[in-house]
Amino acid sequence: MSKRELVHDRVAAIKERLSVLAAGRSVKLMAVTKFRTREEAVYAVEAGVDAIGENRIQEAVVKWKDKLPGIPLHGIGHVQTNKVKYAINLFDSIDSVDSERVAGVLDRSASKRMAVMVEVNIADEDSKFGLKADEVRPFLAQAERWRKLVVTGLMTVLPARQENSVEEGRRIRQHMQEMVDLWRMCRSEGWPWAPLNELSMGMSGDWEWAVEAGSTVIRLGTQIFGPREDALPR
Ligand SMILES: *Cc1c(COP(=O)(O)O)cnc(C)c1O
Repeated sequence: MSKRELVHDRVAAIKERLSVLAAGRSVKLMAVTKFRTREEAVYAVEAGVDAIGENRIQEAVVKWKDKLPGIPLHGIGHVQTNKVKYAINLFDSIDSVDSERVAGVLDRSASKRMAVMVEVNIADEDSKFGLKADEVRPFLAQAERWRKLVVTGLMTVLPARQENSVEEGRRIRQHMQEMVDLWRMCRSEGWPWAPLNELSMGMSGDWEWAVEAGSTVIRLGTQIFGPREDALPR
């Protein structure tokens, strides 16, 4: 089977399972294409994914010099302030805003309306970027002063599954529920600058739980393209 057929089959299988789990809700499928070629990404787009996500700006700038028409490109990795200009020009949405500093620089640098999501470190892990749960509401409340940024959702990366135990599964689903509660609470504020339509939650190891919990965007790399060579030299 060619790589193209493989990707087409995997996306079809995911979409079928997704339609069962989502039970009538609309859940978007984002193909995460870090460390993948442009060609592989095109296969996923042909198969009907809703968006592409890249988390390293340098890699994305080269790969997406010519963007694919009709498919939104999302930034999902930490944005260093010296890369903000690239990020604004390249991405249709930056889903990984994780500090007031980055948000402020983005807002000052954007020349038009810019969709962003706020990244939440829901399990408070040292290794992860993102606001802590109790910082999110005050952060969004002060976002009124931004002139270009519109906060379309919350994004999170859950703790990685390591032992596959019942206890670990329970813990991860507990964090997912915390994210859903936080998202609903913030959305109910009705802030015009933060409509928060999306909850971007769920990756290859946990996306089915995330959809069951109420996620509206899942971000899949491995599940679509197979194991990734993370050991690639930088
Ligand atoms: C790499 C990455 C993903 C996809 O990871 P997989 O486990 O390969 O599905 C999703 N979100 C972010 C922020 C990522 O960096």
